[in-house]
Amino acid sequence: IERSLVIVKPDGYRRGLTGEVLRRIEAKGYTLVALKVETADKARLAQHYAEHEGKPFYEPLVDFMSSGPATFVVIEGQDCIKGFRSLAGATNPTEAAPGSIRGDLGRDWGLAVQQNIVHGSDSTESAEREIGIWFPQG
Ligand code: ATP
Repeated sequence: IERSLVIVKPDGYRRGLTGEVLRRIEAKGYTLVALKVETADKARLAQHYAEHEGKPFYEPLVDFMSSGPATFVVIEGQDCIKGFRSLAGATNPTEAAPGSIRGDLGRDWGLAVQQNIVHGSDSTESAEREIGIWFPQG
């Protein structure tokens, strides 16, 4: 059975959408395995977003992700990595399909970083890596 790291990003937290995201995860049939609310520190974000270092949106992304509380969640379920990304919708909220979290709730109004409410791991390797970053105690 598969695990994925989901983050309800600071925009989702500020807008009071944490419960809505968790509701959709549970309604889909995935299990919540671990959950914490925390303002992310930049050192961990640098690890988490290492693949984006050097890109134009990297600094704004780290600033945004450390701008306030976010909710970190380990979810579990069959094919939940791909399944959650499908629930989340396309990265760009304008292009995300209605019915998805970003399609229904996301905003993309010329901001430096797409404030797209959620993050979800994109592979088994990144899920394992990301869970290790945010839940190092296991
Ligand atoms: P996530 O990893 O958050 O689930 P993703 O895998 O669809 O989304 P990535 O390509 O990993 O997106 O980018 C990480 C995050 O960086 C995005 O969720 C978004 O907040 C931001 N981002 C990505 N590309 C851009 C861009 N071109 N302009 C602005 N922000 C971006």
